[in-house]
Amino acid sequence: MSKHVTHWIDGAPWSGVADRRGDLHDPATGQGSGVVDYASVREVDDAVAAAVAAFPQWRSTSLARRVQLLFNFRELLSARRDELAALIVSEHGKVHSDALGEVARGLEVVEFACGIPHLVKGGFVESASTGVEVYELQQPLGPVAIISPFNFPAMVPMWFFPIALATGNTVVVKPSEKDPSAANWLAALWKEAGLPDGVFNVVHGDKVAVDRLLEHPDVKAVSFVGSTPIARYVYENGTRYGKRVQALGGAKNHMVVLPDADLDLAADAAVSAGFGAAGERCMAVSVLVAVDPVGDELVQKIADRMAKLRVGPGCAPTSEMGPLVTAAHRDKVTSYLDAGLKSGASLVVDGREHAIDSAEQTGVDTSNGYWLGPTLFDHVTSEMEIYTDEIFGPVLSVVRANSYDQAIELINANPYGNGTAIFTNDGGAAARFRNEVEVGMVGINVPIPVPVAYFSFGGWKSSLFGDSHAYGPQGVHFYTRTKAVTQRWLDPSHGGINLGFPQNV
Ligand code: NAD
Repeated sequence: MSKHVTHWIDGAPWSGVADRRGDLHDPATGQGSGVVDYASVREVDDAVAAAVAAFPQWRSTSLARRVQLLFNFRELLSARRDELAALIVSEHGKVHSDALGEVARGLEVVEFACGIPHLVKGGFVESASTGVEVYELQQPLGPVAIISPFNFPAMVPMWFFPIALATGNTVVVKPSEKDPSAANWLAALWKEAGLPDGVFNVVHGDKVAVDRLLEHPDVKAVSFVGSTPIARYVYENGTRYGKRVQALGGAKNHMVVLPDADLDLAADAAVSAGFGAAGERCMAVSVLVAVDPVGDELVQKIADRMAKLRVGPGCAPTSEMGPLVTAAHRDKVTSYLDAGLKSGASLVVDGREHAIDSAEQTGVDTSNGYWLGPTLFDHVTSEMEIYTDEIFGPVLSVVRANSYDQAIELINANPYGNGTAIFTNDGGAAARFRNEVEVGMVGINVPIPVPVAYFSFGGWKSSLFGDSHAYGPQGVHFYTRTKAVTQRWLDPSHGGINLGFPQNV
């Protein structure tokens, strides 16, 4: 059945007729599944107007009520997580268990936001000066925009909106045009949870919608996640228009394996973190740094494991890895196989030759899906395109290093700084790595170190523009502004004129 995805404005689907639309596909079959409306400036303005109108009442809604609504949303989402996961699978292509994992990590942020009263309690001092009290309020900003990428259509918006809403802001989400349905599903769930109309809105589309959100005078802050060039663009333009902006960008995540590591565990971790979600994760391991002399043995162990991976449609319970999101992206990722070979890297496992589970095995006709199997390059060097570019697919590059020092030098010279991991049993080496590495999220024997919801998520260098990481305490900080109040309850002893600068005595 062909679907029609449209904007969600002021508590209801938009009823207009769009000038422009994009096609939607099921990546496992390559079949068209429907269309998504692309917003013009007018629809963005309508969504922002709804968020502006809803703000005064929402910001003055009690914390107790906001928390109840968050709990309602949490219960509904928890009960229906399978439905949302299936929707993600049908547009993104990742396997169902992975989609459930994405929903679970989003739920963690909802649960964190349920504790919002505790998080926005300000400081208070009495007798700052004689008879003077000072305290701080944390107030919402107003309507805020959340612009998200294709690879986590539910989790990434959920990194932001639970905290934005809990702190009293109203929201306009602009999801990726490649898998837009999850955002509408979440919007309908909010309505069912009892959120007032206009507090949570969704506009679909492309650069036109993003540019309007960046320049709109009523949008007070922008949370963006996507590729580095667009993150930089969003940061530069959003701040030019006076907004608070956090823009999370791309990544090239290195996993270092020291000679003392358990190589079986390291190989398991490299395969899981390299090929989960077909490598379409900003925290995927895309470079494995094998410190001498473990390279040959480790590469063999990884290749053996890759041969056994079941690649097939995300809806089939047997599949461990699904297709890439679009034909164009699959072709781009595949082009790196030739680029790698041309630059002299050794192609140990060629993903083009990997078997894809067929209709007989899965009941899904995969013959026209956007497939590329897991791919492994060895002897990659830092000048090669397969090393310098974020490929964002199932391609793992092994770089050989002759020492720990060479490994850390490589990572710190890389322009990205999202995630990294070290595999070792040497606590001293791990502590040194943790201190020296110029990356925002570090795993010690943990290949995908996505922080839990009560810490904050964010990379360094070209992986994040702005100074606030996502969710956790930094999320609360991002979505609130502080007001310091100095008060005195006057009595006759406070009379008299004094033109001097106030001093505390
Ligand atoms: P993308 O940059 O193409 O798109 C992200 C968003 O920006 C989408 O909503 C899209 O519609 C919009 N957009 C695209 N081109 C635009 C333009 N020219 N002007 C204005 N807006 C534009 O990213 P993607 O391909 O959807 O997602 C994959 C990228 O996201 C990867 O680089 C990945 O590393 C990154 N990512 C980063 C994180 C993180 O936490 N750092 C998390 C997830 C994904």
